[in-house]
Amino acid sequence: MRTIAVSGSASGIGAATRQMLEQAGDTVIGIDLANAEVIADLSSAEGRAAAVAETLERCDGRLDGLVPGAGVGPPVPAGLIAEVNYFGSLALLEGLRPALAAAGEAQVVQIGSNSTTLTPNLPDELVAAFLSEDRDTITAILDQAGPPFNSSLSYGASKTAITRWCRRNAITDDWAGQGIRLNVIAPGAVQTPLLKGGDDDPDFGPLTAQLPIPTGRGTPEQIASWITFMLSPASRFACGSVVFVDGGSDAVIRTDDWPRTFTF
Ligand code: NAD
Repeated sequence: MRTIAVSGSASGIGAATRQMLEQAGDTVIGIDLANAEVIADLSSAEGRAAAVAETLERCDGRLDGLVPGAGVGPPVPAGLIAEVNYFGSLALLEGLRPALAAAGEAQVVQIGSNSTTLTPNLPDELVAAFLSEDRDTITAILDQAGPPFNSSLSYGASKTAITRWCRRNAITDDWAGQGIRLNVIAPGAVQTPLLKGGDDDPDFGPLTAQLPIPTGRGTPEQIASWITFMLSPASRFACGSVVFVDGGSDAVIRTDDWPRTFTF
């Protein structure tokens, strides 16, 4: 029987993932603000440390899988988005890696987003500041952009940075070399409380409504099905992959951008 930690397990995509894993016989250690085995606030350093410590204790130092899925989005303030979406995921990835390595063959699915490729005018310096954990620069860029739209910059940049972090690390001795497969799912618009928060906002609602989605919006269960597959032994050849499951939004807006050609 596998033991898999899922952050954001109390709602939306995380809750659907939890349910599918449990139906298949896995033990889930949920990490969330409430209604989870590990109650922790991933927006603070203390909360992140407590989440890691308690998860390690509950799994007895051995984890077969991890889904860092806790997240917040616009119109939540930009600084909080940065702390939860980037630093919250990073703490779980780094802090739980030894337990994943101890399992021998483990799988990790980070929840990213198609906001990585579809947020216009994302400053490269902001993504770089996340990757170098330079909070002063993150704050300066987000403050300069100003509310409310610095929330979407923070969302897109935090998701881009955590996706790049996963690709950089997935291929290393510490991850692939320890039998840990680290991949990213990039969902598009999925009907959850997070998306409803944007829909209901006077600034973000009209923008969200303009996103082209050839299939219409997705459900949490559709994304959870991909996550459970990406956690399964069948996906062991995937390493550092970013899987877009977004109803075609990226294909509409960035049709010919990938695959991108490469000059050596
Ligand atoms: P959701 O709001 O239904 O679930 C998010 C969960 O994260 C909640 O249970 C919430 O309590 C938890 N969480 C938030 N802040 C936290 C904190 N500080 N500490 C601990 N837990 C915290 O949203 P969802 O749409 O299911 O989001 C899941 C993931 O999917 C997020 O990372 C989100 O960015 C990503 N995503 C969602 C969409 C979408 O359209 N819904 C699209 C792309 C990516």
